[in-house]
Amino acid sequence: MVLGKSPAWQDADGACSGYLVEEGGTCLLVDCGSGVFSKLRRFRDYLDVDAIVITHMHADHFLDPIPFACALTYAPRRQPVAVERRAGTDTLACPRLLVPAGATEVLRTIASAGGQPYLLDQAFAMAEYDTAATLAIGALNVRFQPVPHFLPSNAIQVCCQAGRRFTFGADHGPTDALDGFADDSDLLILEATLPRPEREGPRGHLTAGEAGEHAARCNAGRLVLTHISDELDWDWALAEARRSFAGPVEVAREGAVYEV
Ligand SMILES: [Zn+2]
Ligand SMILES: [Zn+2]
Repeated sequence: MVLGKSPAWQDADGACSGYLVEEGGTCLLVDCGSGVFSKLRRFRDYLDVDAIVITHMHADHFLDPIPFACALTYAPRRQPVAVERRAGTDTLACPRLLVPAGATEVLRTIASAGGQPYLLDQAFAMAEYDTAATLAIGALNVRFQPVPHFLPSNAIQVCCQAGRRFTFGADHGPTDALDGFADDSDLLILEATLPRPEREGPRGHLTAGEAGEHAARCNAGRLVLTHISDELDWDWALAEARRSFAGPVEVAREGAVYEV
């Protein structure tokens, strides 16, 4: 389910990057950008989330574990003694928060600005993932592929028990890094941020046309364009992607559910 699909500036009433992946009782949140915690609460109890995996350390992908941690810390039903009508609890769910290398210190620094450097450490089981490893998260297996961006960024592939695969490219410029990694994905979600390629400097994002080219090379079963602003013309974006990708393609919308 798409919880948020905005680029680094939110759509009107929108949220940034966040995708809920569910399989056999496992609930995984891929990215948790600004605004995503609010959208999560529209659809699920946040205590049902088993793990959050962050693709890279831009605010539109990692910021909302902070309000999430506040909920895990201060919500009335999370207290050890009775509060209002709620009985106290001593069995606190502690979701995994899986972040890129070096991100633990970044998050502590940000939390330090609020005077609580270990807010996230105490609320989550936080760990830095190895991009060369495969993570088992309940019924799901997660793999990583570094992709070129303005800082280290990792595409994520989630594989279910039946072998079907969802690949999310995260943020990246044109690359052959997805070739092989994302081949034959049943669902491929790629960013389509740009109205035209960056005019100078290193490439960090894709146009919709470039997303279509990547999806064609990967032979994706279905392409969903994301990280695309409500200020862009989505019909134009779809037409651009279809110039090279012949399969089904659509623009991500909050609340959209894809069966893989
Ligand atoms: Zn982004
Ligand atoms: Zn980014």
